[in-house]
Amino acid sequence: MLFEDLGLSPALLRALSETGYTTPTPIQAQAIPPALNGEDILGAAQTGTGKTAAFGLPLLQKMAKMTPVKGPRKPRALVLVPTRELAVQVADSLKTYGRHLRLNVTMIFGGVGMQPQIENLRRGVDILVACPGRLIDHLDSGHVKLDAVELLVLDEADRMLDMGFLPSIKRVLSRVPQQRQKMLFSATFEPRIRALAMELLNKPTEVQVAAQNTIAETITHRVHPVDGPRKRDLLVEILSRRHTDQVLIFGKTKHGCNRLAEQLETAGLKSVAIHGNKSQAQRQKALDQFKSGKARILVATDVAARGLDIPNLPLVINHDLPMVAEDYVHRIGRTGRNGASGEALSLVAPEEGGLLRQIQRMLKADIVMQTVDGFEPSRPIRLDAPIPKNGGGQQRRQPMGGRPAQRPGEQKPGGQRAPRKAGARGHGKPADRGAHAHAHTGKPGGRPARSAQRLDSRA
Ligand code: AMP
Repeated sequence: MLFEDLGLSPALLRALSETGYTTPTPIQAQAIPPALNGEDILGAAQTGTGKTAAFGLPLLQKMAKMTPVKGPRKPRALVLVPTRELAVQVADSLKTYGRHLRLNVTMIFGGVGMQPQIENLRRGVDILVACPGRLIDHLDSGHVKLDAVELLVLDEADRMLDMGFLPSIKRVLSRVPQQRQKMLFSATFEPRIRALAMELLNKPTEVQVAAQNTIAETITHRVHPVDGPRKRDLLVEILSRRHTDQVLIFGKTKHGCNRLAEQLETAGLKSVAIHGNKSQAQRQKALDQFKSGKARILVATDVAARGLDIPNLPLVINHDLPMVAEDYVHRIGRTGRNGASGEALSLVAPEEGGLLRQIQRMLKADIVMQTVDGFEPSRPIRLDAPIPKNGGGQQRRQPMGGRPAQRPGEQKPGGQRAPRKAGARGHGKPADRGAHAHAHTGKPGGRPARSAQRLDSRA
């Protein structure tokens, strides 16, 4: 299958070839024709498999075909994203793919001044990429109208439809004419969110290139059991051994991420941090430093879990497990993108067994556990441990940044291969040479080891 076979215009084909894309990814091959045909799309594909172009190419083609009205243009396409960083990335991709089209792509998100955005909106917009909170500010103050929108995309749709964002999304949707084409894309769709998505769509074509909630087979992932207070030492040990690799580390809280980044600095490991309490300029700077390879270590809250495309990132470490199981898939999906191999490690304290259980349940697979010499936990991980008070389940998901849930857009920001149902792989490059194969499943009661190989072949 070639891009030429999908019905894309010569201007887009030229841009794709200049970008170095030769063949469409499976999600692109499946989503682009029905999207060009005007159908609503519900798209589920693993992280890093080219979803942006899957909605972006048909969107650009349709916008280019429409005759623009005279005078300042109102947005005719709206792409809603959960984080500011993702807004920047999606807008950049649309500009790249649409470089031979005369379309204006404008971004709207919080944490930066209103005035430049007002001026951009005044100048006229074809495609608006926005976080919901700031978009509502502009809608309320009359700086933008969405009555000309012909095409609406929700990227990371499951996040956009969960409790924190839903009120804002509903407000935005109430300003968009009904019966417009809609496309919803995400790597994960929890059943309740999926039902909600189906309500928004009109007889959608469902495009699913991987079983839902699965992890690309190119990602090796495992758990290192360790006592909570020793996590930082284990992290330093792993990072020192992997001294050339770029690493994205996820922490639970903004304060915790700051402290961890400081502690890593003290240990001589240069780190930058991203979370909702940093200014947008600081966040973008840290991300740019990391993306360009200038910073080796990025410590982040879940603001960095969604959609961010960091080229060739080899390793993701969960210093703390996410409170919501789906976020595990998104976090570790920052590595192993577009068919590359990647590795993800989770440092799990005995009391975090409940969180691990809910992740394994979602993946429908156990994750290989591997104790690291010198860091053996004082007691086994109990999968029947209670889930921490503020964790677990979609209902209890916390906003990704530091601001109230009503303004999600401002707080945070925000495979081509056959899928594996089991997210776990036992082989591949060891994270740390000192880790030995105490592979076991960590079932309640410390059931004996199931070998990594066996888990592999199960997949
Ligand atoms: P996305 O899932 O949209 O973030 O894309 C993941 C990565 O794959 C990005 O670096 C894209 O530039 C890249 N990509 C997307 N589609 C293709 C393609 N058809 N050929 C090569 N690379 C692609």
